[in-house]
Amino acid sequence: MMNKKKPQDILVAARNHYEDVICPNVDDWESTSEYPRAAAAEAAKHGLLGIYSPEEYGGQALSFEEGIPVFEELGKGEGLYAFSFSMHNIVTFAICSFGQQELRDEWAPKLIAGESLGGFVLTEAQSGSDAAKVHTRAVINEDGSYTINGSKAWVSLADVADIYLVVVKTSSKSGKDDIAMVAVPKDTQGISFGVPYDKLVSPFLPIADMFFDSVTVPESNVIFPPGKGLSGSLMAIDIARTSISAGCCGLISSSLDLALTFARDRQMFGQSELEFQGIQWMLADVATDLEASRLLYKHASKYLGTPEGTVAAAHVKRFAPDAAQRAAATCMQVLGGAGLLVPSAIERNYRIAPVMKMVDGTTEIQRVVIARSLQKYAETLPPIPEQECK
Ligand SMILES: Cc1cc2nc3c(=O)[nH]c(=O)nc-3n(C[C@H](O)[C@H](O)[C@H](O)COP(=O)(O)OP(=O)(O)OC[C@H]3O[C@@H](n4cnc5c(N)ncnc54)[C@H](O)[C@@H]3O)c2cc1C
Repeated sequence: MMNKKKPQDILVAARNHYEDVICPNVDDWESTSEYPRAAAAEAAKHGLLGIYSPEEYGGQALSFEEGIPVFEELGKGEGLYAFSFSMHNIVTFAICSFGQQELRDEWAPKLIAGESLGGFVLTEAQSGSDAAKVHTRAVINEDGSYTINGSKAWVSLADVADIYLVVVKTSSKSGKDDIAMVAVPKDTQGISFGVPYDKLVSPFLPIADMFFDSVTVPESNVIFPPGKGLSGSLMAIDIARTSISAGCCGLISSSLDLALTFARDRQMFGQSELEFQGIQWMLADVATDLEASRLLYKHASKYLGTPEGTVAAAHVKRFAPDAAQRAAATCMQVLGGAGLLVPSAIERNYRIAPVMKMVDGTTEIQRVVIARSLQKYAETLPPIPEQECK
């Protein structure tokens, strides 16, 4: 069993994983459709697959505030590889914190050791942003087992993960009170996957539809019973939004380092490119965006799991991916034509940044969440005194 590390040692482990595993291999990963399981197993040896899980199962038992900066380190290398670790860690945390003893004892050690990987399955083809509109149906049998029929879309680590937390509807009633979450091991009879989507980024991360044909799991696999499934999913999503935003900081930081190094060494008009004030101001704006995104994700990570967590996560998920997209474009411009050459970190970051605006809730949905809280707040404000209206 892996020894618990101090939070700063986990960050060093993440940085080493970025430098020693992601950087030298990412171009090869991009040329295949194979998820780099050996790299994930290597990360597990250093505690990166059990960040929030209890020590008794070999986890690092870090708080979100301590653990989420890991995704900034990993996001320097490849944002969607970092995302797959974020999802796995959230699934492992949910199993350890809300799963029943039998499920925890069976799966937590394997997930933390990287022998198994976890996936989160919420999105459906007809209801992406409208996550509460779940059509995948589970019938609860007399012995408490669940029999699931339906299909899901955009399942990351499709056919690679060994266990999936699946969000299901348990009656034909309208509303959200019957939504539940169950753990479904990949080898359960009746599961199948579609052909992985052909996409702009990260071919090594399979994302596909997932089909359920009378898939039955025992009552002991229920993570959140009917009535708790939606709130449980939303809590997981808040953690995911904050982690993705930390990954965006990694993307901004690696883009900025590359642009600074390039501009420092590139000579033109008798001086270094970095001497031009126009270039300095472009990079200064990137640095401000990085600082702001970092402060927002660190703030959100303190509030996850509290009533303030959802809006704090929405603020950073609204801001950081846009900042990452601006940073990638600016830094590419600083490299001139060299920024267009493939493969390179800058063109990879340029392709990955817009994906960050979609995954785990789009930028627009974050505005919806923030605006709802503003509406509630507006109701608490007293009327403007008459003389001030004039
Ligand atoms: C790389 C990647 C990996 C993913 N992995 C997973 C996974 O592992 N598991 C999983 O369950 N899901 C996953 N998803 C799905 C992801 O969560 C959804 O893509 C996301 O929630 C948006 O849904 P959609 O793509 O259907 O967009 P839609 O909901 O169809 O939205 C289309 C457009 O309309 C906008 N829009 C929607 N509603 C509003 C509104 N009220 N106001 C204004 N604009 C609005 C959106 O912002 C967007 O621009 C993944 C997605 C990506 C891109």
